[in-house]
Amino acid sequence: MHAMVLTKSKSPLEWTELADRSPGPGQIRVRVSACGVCRTDLHVLDGELPDPVLPIIPGHEIVGRIDAIGPGVGGLAMGERVGIPWLGHTCGVCPYCLGARENLCDHPLFTGYTRDGGFATATIADARYAFPLGETGSDVALAPLLCAGLIGWRSLLLAGEGKRLGLYGFGAAAHIVAQVARWQGRSVFAFTRPGDAATQAFAKRLGVGWAGGSDQTPPEALDAAIIFAAVGDLVPLALKAVRKGGRVVCAGIHMSDIPSFPYALLWEERQLLSVANLTRQDGLDFLRLAPQIGIVTETTSYPLPRANEALADLRAGAFHGAAVLVPPAS
Ligand SMILES: [Zn+2]
Ligand SMILES: [Zn+2]
Repeated sequence: MHAMVLTKSKSPLEWTELADRSPGPGQIRVRVSACGVCRTDLHVLDGELPDPVLPIIPGHEIVGRIDAIGPGVGGLAMGERVGIPWLGHTCGVCPYCLGARENLCDHPLFTGYTRDGGFATATIADARYAFPLGETGSDVALAPLLCAGLIGWRSLLLAGEGKRLGLYGFGAAAHIVAQVARWQGRSVFAFTRPGDAATQAFAKRLGVGWAGGSDQTPPEALDAAIIFAAVGDLVPLALKAVRKGGRVVCAGIHMSDIPSFPYALLWEERQLLSVANLTRQDGLDFLRLAPQIGIVTETTSYPLPRANEALADLRAGAFHGAAVLVPPAS
């Protein structure tokens, strides 16, 4: 197998030939056909997440087909198309696992961060954390659903039922969540970098009613806002934009420091909360719903050996929607 490997923080991934791996008990091997690129991959590369396991193969929006099945795996078939998300393993016995909050597990493994991920021609996964994807939709189009879609979905659940939803940072996750929220009958307000007319136009093409800069006041007070950009300065701005009792959800795994702000922005029972990871139930619920909603992902494909270019383009905001890596045909 081949993979793009991170051996040292803040250095480029390296195209590397590795020995083929065999699935152990409870595991499957997946021949990767597409893997999305997520902002979290940049945080892993930049050394912004604690205790990375190096060397590591990043990538946690994996679509592929099962080509080997380890002992003790049930319910999955050779050749079946599956998706592998960020949450790669949980302990099953900690208070969070036992309390239906496995996303907060005390001893988890995360794909592409603490276990090898999908910037590769093949990957090994814990079979219990692989989602059957069926045959509807292309591999590339489905890949962004595995993190941008899933984390967006969990953020939307935590944002509550409010009709007026603000999205700060209109990248891979927001462009999917906007479609879900519109399907649910909500009004969506997209906030981009000030002056980013191209992204505001992209948001409007997806049915977003209002799009403007993050420094602008929306025309109506919001019921809830989700912050996808890793920018702490957005927290007070979003709190200012939500009504009394409104909610602000921080969806990222890492964010720059939040500046101090007057208590009045939080008062009147506004809530500020974060989203961490996902549960398997989130995945099943969202992936069942996605085909009904008819989500259309905007993707830019890169050959897997050009992963560094895809990551640089993500950092620079050079495309709309999501970047997806495609391994060479073998
Ligand atoms: Zn991600
Ligand atoms: Zn646990």
